[in-house]
Amino acid sequence: MNNGTSEYRYMLEMFIGDECLICGSKEKLYFHEIHDVRHPTTFKYYIAHLKDFIPLCSRHHQKMHSILYRLEHYPESTKSLRIISLIAEAISVKSCD
Ligand SMILES: [Zn+2]
Ligand SMILES: [Zn+2]
Repeated sequence: MNNGTSEYRYMLEMFIGDECLICGSKEKLYFHEIHDVRHPTTFKYYIAHLKDFIPLCSRHHQKMHSILYRLEHYPESTKSLRIISLIAEAISVKSCD
C-alpha cells in the first residue's frame, strides 16, 4: 500500500492483524497473500479477500517466500511433510530487527 493510505492501512491492520503471525512484531508489517498469487494492492481487493491475507513482519515475510519458493521443487506427495518442517524452521527464527 502506498502513500496517503494510512487510514486504509489502519483498517486493514484491524481486520487482518497488526502483528506478525510468527513472532508478534509490529514493525514493517506485510500482508502476505496465502495462495501466493499476484493481486492488486488496492484497499478494495484486500477488503474483498481478507481471509487470504496474513500479517507478517518483513523478516518472516521474506522467509515465507523462500519457503514457498523451495516448496515448488518438491513433489506433491512429500509437500505436506515439507510444509510442516519448513514452517517449524521459520517459527524458530524469532529475532526480528
Ligand atoms: Zn516476524
Ligand atoms: Zn507475500
